[in-house]
Amino acid sequence: METMNNYTGNILIADLESGECETEELSPGLVEKALGGAALNMELYEKYKDRDPLILGTGFFTATFFPCSCLAVMTGISPITGGIGHVPLTWQTGVELKLAGFDFVVILGKAAKPMRLWLHDGLSDLNDSEDIWGKDVWQSVDKIREVYGDDMIQSILIGKAGENKVPIAQLSENYWGSADTLGLAAVCGAKNLKAIAMRGLGSLEVADGFFQKSLELKNEILSGAIKGKAGLKDFIAPLGLDAKLKEKIESATHRINACYNCPYPCYTFLKYREAPSATAQNGVADPGCLTADLAGLARFHMLGIDAPQAMEKCFKSGLQPAAAARILEKKGIKDLAAAEAALDALAAEGNDVKPDGQSPWPIEVALPQAAGIFSSAVPPKPLFAQVSNFGAQDAGQWWVQRQALAYTIGICPIFALLAPEVTLEKVVELVQMSAEWDAFSSDTLKNIIDTLIKKSTG
Ligand code: SF4
Repeated sequence: METMNNYTGNILIADLESGECETEELSPGLVEKALGGAALNMELYEKYKDRDPLILGTGFFTATFFPCSCLAVMTGISPITGGIGHVPLTWQTGVELKLAGFDFVVILGKAAKPMRLWLHDGLSDLNDSEDIWGKDVWQSVDKIREVYGDDMIQSILIGKAGENKVPIAQLSENYWGSADTLGLAAVCGAKNLKAIAMRGLGSLEVADGFFQKSLELKNEILSGAIKGKAGLKDFIAPLGLDAKLKEKIESATHRINACYNCPYPCYTFLKYREAPSATAQNGVADPGCLTADLAGLARFHMLGIDAPQAMEKCFKSGLQPAAAARILEKKGIKDLAAAEAALDALAAEGNDVKPDGQSPWPIEVALPQAAGIFSSAVPPKPLFAQVSNFGAQDAGQWWVQRQALAYTIGICPIFALLAPEVTLEKVVELVQMSAEWDAFSSDTLKNIIDTLIKKSTG
């Protein structure tokens, strides 16, 4: 490996006990060993495992022009599985982290009082966060942006459920939850870490010709299996979910959005306090919610509750929607007012809440045990193509390997199921080009992925 393109070269060590932050060099040797994302997070986790670490990392391609290179990954011990869990963070999170000047963040120990980590332009501070402890997610995002004076700040944060260490708490990316089905928000709560706020105006070096190669791949993807499709509504038929949910989503959709550089916009803004067609500001402060969590919508829909409104409650409290909906189902709750009261109670209950360990999806899911190291909010199978189009036979093993690839190179794990055009060979070619690393091969990549899975499940 000849260059460190794609990375800033910085690992931040944030010690919650001492309140000190230090920056270490991201060594080329570590990138050669684990490439990035969850695989490199695991190396850092093992290095610091005596200090109860939580690792936030970016993938090798994160924030580059590689299609859908938006991903950051948080790695820690899941209070749900009791083992290592890797949580994917999409939207702008990984991009903002790199452009704020850091590739990886190692969070050690526990703070004596509520703190937040503020990363901006290569600088890092652990700040007092008592001003937002006890506030809901939406209030906290607004306050963070007000305090640091920038509406473009990207935050990973927890709500009351995380503060109360509820196992089904969920990390939130700004206002709209995340694919955290592993309860790492409860880990943040146990550490008294309310938020990681990021803002960066930096830039990355990429190899000559990388942009053109990435653009060619993106154009190939756009004319492939995803062509003509958009939004969560188009996931419903391939997953065998209720067609009435599709009608509900279509009738409430105001717009669809894509995360950084994603060719498939699945984030769907659903309006319920004004007409979905309304575009002008009309004084309705919270007209709806933006979500990529189809499993959560499907679970609330099955209860006969207005699913988007129940999701809003989960987002504000920082609860996993599908897990919360299953608890409400067992309680026999079938109306929105009772659901909202029950969700408030769940967020306040602390670690007495027992997750049932079931898939968030109300469909049959057949994945191997190793799948439990990754987010189960990601669909359990490819959506517009067959497993064979990805060159695989065993659907379960393929899913785990495909997720491990996405979490390592830094692309969204949902998108990885949509785009057979992102082949191992294409990834290898672009890693070789980025790092001037001729010895990097399919075998190197497979070995990194296998090591990630083995270390995470071991
Ligand atoms: S598939 Fe959806 S969640 Fe994933 S990057 Fe694209 S828009 Fe974001």
